[in-house]
Formats: sequence, structure tokens, C-alpha cells
Amino acid sequence: MERLDPHACYRALQTRDPRFDGRLFVGVTSTGIYCRPVCPARTPKFENCRFFASAAAAQDAGFRPCLRCRPETAPDLGSWRGTSNTVSRGLALIAEGALDGDTAGVDALAERLGVGGRQLRRLFKQHLGASPIAVAQTRRVLFAKQLIHDTRLPMAEVALAAGFGSIRRFNETFRRLFGRPPGAIRRKAIASLPEGSVAATGVAVRLRYRPPYDWPAMLSYLRGRAIDGVELLDGDVYRRTVMHDGRAGTVEIGHLPERASLEATIRFPCVRALPAIVTRIRRVFDLGADVATIGAHLAQDPLLAPLVAERPGLRAPGGWDGFELAVRAVLGQQVTVEAGRRLAGRLVALCGTPLRADQQAAPGLALTFPGPSQVAAADLASLGMPGARKLALQALAEAAIADPLLFQPLGTVEETVARLRAIRGVGEWTAQYIALRAVGETDAFPATDIGLLRGAAGPAGPRPRPDELHGRAEQWRPWRAYAAQHLWAADAASRSTPREASREASHD
Ligand SMILES: [Zn+2]
Repeated sequence: MERLDPHACYRALQTRDPRFDGRLFVGVTSTGIYCRPVCPARTPKFENCRFFASAAAAQDAGFRPCLRCRPETAPDLGSWRGTSNTVSRGLALIAEGALDGDTAGVDALAERLGVGGRQLRRLFKQHLGASPIAVAQTRRVLFAKQLIHDTRLPMAEVALAAGFGSIRRFNETFRRLFGRPPGAIRRKAIASLPEGSVAATGVAVRLRYRPPYDWPAMLSYLRGRAIDGVELLDGDVYRRTVMHDGRAGTVEIGHLPERASLEATIRFPCVRALPAIVTRIRRVFDLGADVATIGAHLAQDPLLAPLVAERPGLRAPGGWDGFELAVRAVLGQQVTVEAGRRLAGRLVALCGTPLRADQQAAPGLALTFPGPSQVAAADLASLGMPGARKLALQALAEAAIADPLLFQPLGTVEETVARLRAIRGVGEWTAQYIALRAVGETDAFPATDIGLLRGAAGPAGPRPRPDELHGRAEQWRPWRAYAAQHLWAADAASRSTPREASREASHD
């Protein structure tokens, strides 16, 4: 596994250094418990400490999670691990449940990632110190533990939500790990929370990030693109409708800066969908990014250094759903962000699915974004856009129907972009943009984007050609998507007219 210097780790532990939270776990041999480096408990003796790069590695080595510092609440930094793209992608797929079903296995996961099963196991061992199966198992346990701690969901729902095949297996796992049944871990302090199912009352989960987090920038991005009927910004709270496996619900997300967390309230009829919905929220709000590490890398380039210094917490917003994001990208070709937003609203009104009255968590949340088959079947003539754009939308819907994994991270960034470019009407800019936002490619970079070229020029300098910008961006790998975010922000700040306009206009 990646080398951890035990003395440096121990210093982090002694000082309860929050910078190591999420990337370092310590197993204490005298107690059998593993902790976050910020645990308030007395610092164990050096000779009793074993250090791990992941919670899964600590759990795999036989340690159980601490009930005080709660490793399940550490920032989930899985997806930032640029050191191995395959591991990052593997972690993203595991988070979406790739290893949860009965038929799912490591070999199938490896195939999706374009490597052999043995190679995938080796890479996981090397970077995380644990096997893919151990990682998936640890995720289930920690998510269940969080739901037990923070909600009053019935235990049967907790077991299902966390991806356990049966309540029996859930109970066995907890007895083996904690020496007691799951119910015994539940705190009395939650008595004031609403009791009941996810469908009836909703469930609130806290999702930690590693500070800093530029919440105003994220809200402004979402506000500029909020689709009428689907998304709603109410002060500092973001709400949207959710469609998953043919069922509809809503989510509501607020910011808890003093806890370095977002709070997500999820109302959904099927509790099994909870991990997938949480994964989407993490992706939209880019909670897995280690912006300090990314910023330090980007700041080596004098062009980016002042931008990173100005906006250290800037994140790369993700798409809620791959198809939805791709549709938005096509609708946004050659028009302003606002015009693209209005077009998306018209498309939703045309073929989105209405929520039932009892599902509408807030007035204004009335429709879910249409899926590929709804768009393919819709008469797009009333949308008022060029014929080529309509054909592109149709082609996109058909491609998404033909390949349900179209928006999954498979292979390299270049392969992802080539796959998307094969769709009629999707050029290089659109493909890179979809890869950046929908697939969560941290290295995607739409070098022809006018906003990026302006941002790279600065207020006075000459604007680079796309191939010059592309060349310069080589040194920003594997985080070119974050460089793009900074350049867009710089461009927006340097212009006096309303910023969002045209910054993602297509130049295909
Ligand atoms: Zn602890």
C-alpha cells in the first residue's frame, strides 16, 4: 500500500490535525478500535498504533470503528485519489452499489474498468490497503452505522438502505464487529427526531467535506441553471426532484459550515435507493475533492496560483444524472446559460413526469427530469431550437437507451470522450463538458471553451489559441477540471455583465 510514515502519522494524531481527516486512520492494538486522527480520546501510545490509508484497511485488519470519533463521518475522499485513476473510478462504482447485488462481483467491476480482476485487487491493495470487497463491506457497515446514529429509521430499513442482503446478515455483521446488536448502538439523543420510514418522513444525513468549501460559488452555479419545476433555490437551501429506478422523490440540501458538512434530507419511496441518492449528492456538490491537494498542484503554475489563492474552496459541480447533464449540455450549445436553462424547462414541461401531490416537498417542485425514452418519444418541434439541435437530442436519447452505461466512467478520459463524440451532434466541447460534469472526470478539459480562453488570458493579456491552452494544461493533469473551474471563475469575475452568460457557450 502507499507508504505511510508512522512518525509523521503519529504527529498528526498527537496534534489532532484535521488535514489528515479522511486520508489517515489509526488502529489501536490495545483496544481493537480504529479512529480518525481528530479523535478526542486520549492519544494512544506510539507502539500501540497502526496506521491505515482507508477505513476499509483498518476494518480489514480486524479493528472496529470508534464510537466517539465515528470514522463513518470522516470526509469521504475516495474520488480524489488521482494517483490511480482506476482506483478512483472503482471507488465511484462501488459507491453506486457495483458490489452490492447478488450477481455483482469484483471481476465484473474490473471488466467495467478495463482491467483484470487480479490487477484491480492489486491496485486496491496498493492504494487503499484493502480489497474491493472489503471496501464495499466497510462502506455498508459505516453507512448503516451513520443511519443508526443519526436517524430513527427502523432497523429493517437501515439494513436495506445500507445494501445488506438481509436483516440477518446485517445483525450478524454488527454482532461480529461491535459485539452487540445494531439497536444497542443507537443513541438516546435522537429521540427528538421524527420516527418512521424514508418515504413517510424523509431521512436527514450529514455529509462531511474537507474544508475549505466555496458554498456561495456552488449555490450560484446551481441557481443560474435551476430548471423550473425540477429544482428550486430557497435562500441557502437547494431542492430538487429525483427519479431513480422508475420512482420519484425529492432531496433538500443545506450547508452546515460549522460542522464542515452538508445536510441532505431525502424523501424517497424505496429505502434501497438511499446510497445511490447520497452518491449523487456527493457528486453534484463535489464533496470528495481534496481541494487543498488539488490547489497546491495547480498553484505551481503562475497563471493559476493567484486564482487558487483567491478561491481556495472552489469545487467542480457534478451532474445529478448523466443523461440529464448531457441533455443540458446539448441544449446549452451556442446559447447563453440562461437560454439553455429556459429550454430545459420547456423540455421538462413537455415530457417530464409529474410528482403526485403528496410527493411534492415544496411548491414549485412538480416534475422529474425526463429519461431517455421520454425524450426519444417526445415531439420536440415546440421547443423552438434549430433542427440540428433537435436531432442531436434525439440521437443522445437513443444512444442512452442503447447503452445504459454510457455515462459511467469507463476506460480513460480520452476513451470516454471518444465514446460520447460518436453520438451525432456531440462535438469535442460537448463531450469534454459531459465528461467533466456528468462522468466526474477530474481531468476533463474543454480547451476550446471561450470562457476558459478568456480566463487564461487574464484581463489584459492576449487570448491563447485552444491548442496553446491545451498544451499548457498538460501540467495541470490529473486535475484539469479544477483548473477549468478556476479559469471560468476568473473570467466571470473579470467581466461586468451578468457572469453566467455565454461562459459555457459551445464552440464545436
Ligand atoms: Zn476515536
